[in-house]
Amino acid sequence: MYPFAYTKVTEVRAALAAGARGGRYLAGGTTLVDLMRETVERPGELVDIEALPLRTIQALPGGGLRLGALVRMSDAARHPLVRTAYPVVSEALELSASPQLRNMASLGGNILQRTRCGYFRDVSAACNKREPGTGCAARDGFNRTHAILGTSAACVATHPSDLAVALCALGAVVRLLGQAGTRQVPIGEFILEPGGTPQREHDLRPGELVTAIDIPPHPRPLTSGYLKVRDRQSYEFALTSAAVALHIDNGVIREANVAAGGVGTVPWKLNGVERALVGQRPSAGLWERAASRAAEGAQPLRHNAFKLDLLKRTVARQLRVVGGGR
Ligand code: SF4
Repeated sequence: MYPFAYTKVTEVRAALAAGARGGRYLAGGTTLVDLMRETVERPGELVDIEALPLRTIQALPGGGLRLGALVRMSDAARHPLVRTAYPVVSEALELSASPQLRNMASLGGNILQRTRCGYFRDVSAACNKREPGTGCAARDGFNRTHAILGTSAACVATHPSDLAVALCALGAVVRLLGQAGTRQVPIGEFILEPGGTPQREHDLRPGELVTAIDIPPHPRPLTSGYLKVRDRQSYEFALTSAAVALHIDNGVIREANVAAGGVGTVPWKLNGVERALVGQRPSAGLWERAASRAAEGAQPLRHNAFKLDLLKRTVARQLRVVGGGR
């Protein structure tokens, strides 16, 4: 571990001032401290924001929810408003990490967490995300868990967050605060595909703080859920996952929100699947037909072509679970 300064703040203004001089925000620390121990990250100053008043969940006027950035994952998962209105969010949280980590980790930190690519965490390996211009050891290495969608020549790492997949399906918006003021960025634009700059993972300006995540209103009833497929049933990242939220009225799907995890460099909105669902009546055949579009545009690597079929099956199964139909 390298030496670093530690500052604890209790007011947002003090946090922003520390962020503006280059301090790194520290909340639950479940990602950042690990990366510091492995010397992947070497911040000169940590700014402890745990005491900031960003820990509430509230209903928004007109529908929707605002989730404070410092709400613990476990608290959000069991919150009645989240459980009732957006089971897909509760389930994504409960299928994440371990109970101990969920009791520490914040929602803001969850969507900001860095990739689990093993080469990224091995400082002896070539990694464009950790050290731009050094290459990508995963491209020709062991890439079974890596992405098949949204990849670039520079990086093929998957985005690790389950929560972000559920939020992507629901069209959530990230609220940011910096010294220049507030911004609101849809989560699908906030988390960046690697392109030629994989080291830049978020649309986050220097010193900006994630303050909350807004889930917009959706027509009711909205049935939703999250399915995660992984190598073991606990404390493991997704090989594939599917977040589904459907509004079915008079036997017809009026709104479809579908996103996939474990397969993309970012949470992957399945627009083709959604288009295939809207205006249709639930049926086993419809789920299969719609899910067959889930891997459109995918580019598998040497060891992860199995994800093409697994993704389609994951999406079809979760559509069936959420949408019913025979
Ligand atoms: Fe680094 Fe991305 Fe390549 Fe992994 S996939 S080694 S994170 S550049």
